[in-house]
Amino acid sequence: MPQSVFTMLLTTVLSVTSVTDDTFLIKQSDFVKSRNPDCEAVLYHSPEIESPVLREYIEAYTFACEYFGDIRTMEIWLTSNNEGAAAQLRQRWCDHRLRLDSSFRESYCRDSQIGVYLNNYVHWFSVDWRPGIDEHHQVNLADQHSLESDGAESTMAHEFFHAYQYSHLDLDIYQTWESRDLNMGRSEDASKPWHSEGSASFFGGFLAERMGISGALRNYLAYYIDSNGGNCQALIDEAFSLWDLEFDTRNNCGYGLGAWAITFLISQHSIASYLAFYDDLNPYGFFEAWSKNFGQTVDEFDVNFREWFLTTSDDVKFETVSALVVSEQSEMLSQAMSPR
Ligand SMILES: [Zn+2]
Repeated sequence: MPQSVFTMLLTTVLSVTSVTDDTFLIKQSDFVKSRNPDCEAVLYHSPEIESPVLREYIEAYTFACEYFGDIRTMEIWLTSNNEGAAAQLRQRWCDHRLRLDSSFRESYCRDSQIGVYLNNYVHWFSVDWRPGIDEHHQVNLADQHSLESDGAESTMAHEFFHAYQYSHLDLDIYQTWESRDLNMGRSEDASKPWHSEGSASFFGGFLAERMGISGALRNYLAYYIDSNGGNCQALIDEAFSLWDLEFDTRNNCGYGLGAWAITFLISQHSIASYLAFYDDLNPYGFFEAWSKNFGQTVDEFDVNFREWFLTTSDDVKFETVSALVVSEQSEMLSQAMSPR
């Protein structure tokens, strides 16, 4: 793909690429990219999604990328949130991959993960049973920009953070699915999401807040401990462990309580130190890296979180959230103002 030379822009704008190998399959207007030269991703989308909405998603992507750092190669697939559009975009995705990767097989097409109300992340790379795939990161989003929660900002930040997680696992070190899941802080069978989804959900709310959605993190967390909402607090008793939470635990409590756990962790440390922890995943693995960075084992943290949760009023919990948001904001400001 020819690289256009852009002048450095202070604000993100959309550009429609001019020439691509995919123009026969994907119309030019379906294919947009960030103009921030430090953040390169291509957005493929259902043709009926209009420019202002595309801009919202691109801005959310650019914000997440500037915050976490660029992750390449990144494709974002945004479908209108109805089955007809999703089926069409799945077909385009399949045609696109078949053209791009010479050994991509038609049978892989069912793994697109593009669909109605589907927001997810897929790390594509060659493995024995699925050879020939060019390594890349794929974020799939269903257009939910009009939703108050799970809008463009939080879903983009959540899925981008999954790319951050997986880009920190060296495929030469972690060669099996089980080892990658374990060192992402899930169980080997990938069924326990408190860390992987809790952190992605934390950053979904936290970054949405930074993108101007006032109270996004607080509102996200509040839902899960509201007896008229997720009611997840009812799961926490003296025997509770974060590892009890599964993907299919009711009301997505694995996500919500996982996000509370990450909030608690970061309130004791900082976002910078939490993100730096990922740099230790390759040399140390998840559990040792955790102890090294946070001064307690994962099991100790599990107990500390439970105790904190059970002995702290909701008001104090929310004060912890507010204090975290405020302190991270002043941290960012002082960094921006300090001489480089
Ligand atoms: Zn997720």
